[in-house]
Formats: sequence, structure tokens, C-alpha cells
Amino acid sequence: MTIYLKPHKEESVLRFHPWVFSGAVARIDGNPSEGEVVSVVASDGTALGAGHYQIGSIAVRLLTFSPNEKIDAAFFRRRIESAYNMRKALGLIRKDNDTYRLVHGEGDMLPGLIIDVYGDTAVMQAHSVGMHLIRHELAEIVKDVVVEVSNVYYKSEGTLPYKAPLEERDDGYLIGNEGQSVGCENGLKFNIDWLRGQKTGFFVDQRDNRSLLERFSRDRNVLNMFCYTGGFSVYALRGGALSVHSVDSSAKAIELTERNVNLNFGECERHKAFAEDAFRFLDNMQQAYDLIILDPPAFAKHRGAIRNALQGYRRLNQKALEKIAPHSILFTFSCSQVVDKDMFRLAVFSAAAAAKRQVRILHQLTQPADHPINIYHPEGEYLKGLVLYVE
Ligand code: SAH
Repeated sequence: MTIYLKPHKEESVLRFHPWVFSGAVARIDGNPSEGEVVSVVASDGTALGAGHYQIGSIAVRLLTFSPNEKIDAAFFRRRIESAYNMRKALGLIRKDNDTYRLVHGEGDMLPGLIIDVYGDTAVMQAHSVGMHLIRHELAEIVKDVVVEVSNVYYKSEGTLPYKAPLEERDDGYLIGNEGQSVGCENGLKFNIDWLRGQKTGFFVDQRDNRSLLERFSRDRNVLNMFCYTGGFSVYALRGGALSVHSVDSSAKAIELTERNVNLNFGECERHKAFAEDAFRFLDNMQQAYDLIILDPPAFAKHRGAIRNALQGYRRLNQKALEKIAPHSILFTFSCSQVVDKDMFRLAVFSAAAAAKRQVRILHQLTQPADHPINIYHPEGEYLKGLVLYVE
């Protein structure tokens, strides 16, 4: 099966961008079914590589740019080994840190595949039909390559293209069963619920930013907005915060946060959690916190939503900046992939100006090393954060 590109449409592929858009396709030789491996050829007949075919705006997710490389089990094993070895070499896999992202899609040259590891369990998420079809094979490879892993849970109901004609797309264990449900991050423990939790169960991508927050927490009154599992709250408590208040609109998230605080500190009088809408909480709050974290869900899921998303970020940040105590610190994030760091910074700038506060940027944050960005695929950069000092 071969996909022939229109003239000049090979340019991005020659620069190793892993997506072929459907508009770039001149014709298709054969009748590939969704998820099948296809070869990609330039209009002048030059073979460019091979990848997973799919119906939709991205027609091919390229797996290799070496036309002669075979896409078989050995191929995926090499890629997963390379991902594992890099994380091991970077010191991200330790007894006191057994929670990490093993495969970050295009960032690990495996477009369409996400794998997070929580101790003895890997949670795998397919975003493409191609990865879905080989899920059992991938699970075996993960168990083989990652010595610590004995269970592989598949969780793709929410991420597979809903129109794809798939016989079976249910979530469930591909290997093993309920493993340990407590993961360790920088020596802190977290209950992780991949069955019912959001995404793969835990946001590993904030690990480095939580560490930085820990260093700023001593003797501060901390407000952790959009706390989910309470990641930032637990780090702030270990960092010596005077008090930590966690807010999330989901009652389940609040329960998880309380369980995680308890798991690390037992009964903890310094911590309180509120199941409440973040905007309403900020409107009504009386206390002047001197360290606030704003880590909302992605306000924009596609380009068409950027304008509204930016307004959302501005409004949220303005509310926090109006009420935060003098000489305080704000950690503010956006995980919307379509909102780039300049747009986000502009939204925060507008919020600061509207709140009429003196603000300095102390740090500019991003995603950690187990969420690498393929330099040829800038779309892989999604997490942005600013640490502000507010006079
Ligand atoms: N900071 C977290 C991740 C946040 S995920 C971490 O470090 O792991 C976003 C969270 O925002 C979710 O838990 C969701 O329940 C919550 N949320 C979404 N809309 C909200 C709102 N309007 N008010 C408060 N919480 C909200």
C-alpha cells in the first residue's frame, strides 16, 4: 500500500515532520484499511518513509523516515527500549520515583501512543487506529522491556477517533490485573486510579514544577486551584507551608486529594479541601493567600476555541492577581496545546495590567524530560507555566 504525495508536499516530511495531512495526498495505491502501515512516496517517486494510515485530517502518522525499515514487532521494541533507556539514563526511574511517562507520542517517535508507568502497572493510551490494532503486541513489549511492569491497562475509549470502525475498543487489562495502586513521585506517595481517574489516572507532567513549588512553599499560605489528585498540595505540605487549601469542582478529585494528603502526612491540620468551582471560590474568598497555583484543564481543545480560551486564562489570572497578598507568588499554567507560550504570556500580562499589580516573571516552566518534544514536531509542546512574583 502506497500513498503518493502532491508535488512539493514532501517538504515537511523531508524535515522529519511526522504527519502527512490528507490535503497533501495525490493518490493512494491499493485500498489500505485504517490503521494499516503504508509507504509514503514523493511526487517524483522518492520513497520517504512509512506510517499508520488513518481517515481524517492526518492521513499518515509516520513511524520511520527510512524507507527500508520494516515496521514489525522488532521495530516497536527498539523504539520502546530507546524510550525506556533514555528515562533510565536521566535518572527518572528510581525506587522513590516509579511514576513516569514511558512513551510520549511523537516525542518518542511513536505518534499515536502514550504510555504512563505507575510502579508495576503501565497505562497505555492509543490516539490512532494503527496503535489500537497492535495494542496486544505493544503490551507484551512493554512488559518485556520494563522489568518493573507486570500489568498493562489499556485506556483509549476517550482518545480513539470515534468514527473509526473498530470491532472492539473497550478499556481493560491487556496483561495482568489490578496492580499496586500507589505510585511514588520524588518520595511522595499518590493513590492512582487509572480505572476511574482522568486521562491515564495521574498528571505526571507537573512533577518538576511541583518540585519547584515545594522550594517556594515554606511559611506560606497556599491555595491550590484545580487540584485534581492534590499533587501540588502534597509537595507544598512537605515544603513547610503554613496552610494548604485545595480546590476542585469535582467531589471525586477532592476525595482523592484528601486521601493523598493522608497517605503522606496522616491527619493533617494544615490542609483543607473544597469541592467548588474555581471562579466562584476566587470571587468569594476572604483570605489573602501568598502562594496560589492555577492549573486549569485545557481551555482550548482546538484552534477555533483559542479566543475564548485566552479570555478564560485572562479572567482566571486576573481574579487571582486581584486578591493575592502582597509579596506573594503565583504559579500559573496552561496545558492547551493550541495556545502557545506567547499567547499565554499575553493573557497573563493583560490579567496583571487589569489587576493593576506589579508583577515579575521568576520562572518560565514547561513539561519535564519524560514528555520530550520532537524538535521537528513543535506541536508536541503543550504545557506552559509562569512563576510570578507579585508586589
Ligand atoms: N493540578 C492538577 C491537574 C489539574 S487537572 C495536578 O497537578 O495533577 C484539572 C482539574 O480541574 C480537574 O481535576 C477538574 O476536575 C478541575 N476543574 C475543571 N473545571 C473546574 C472549575 N471550573 N473549577 C474547579 N475545578 C475545575
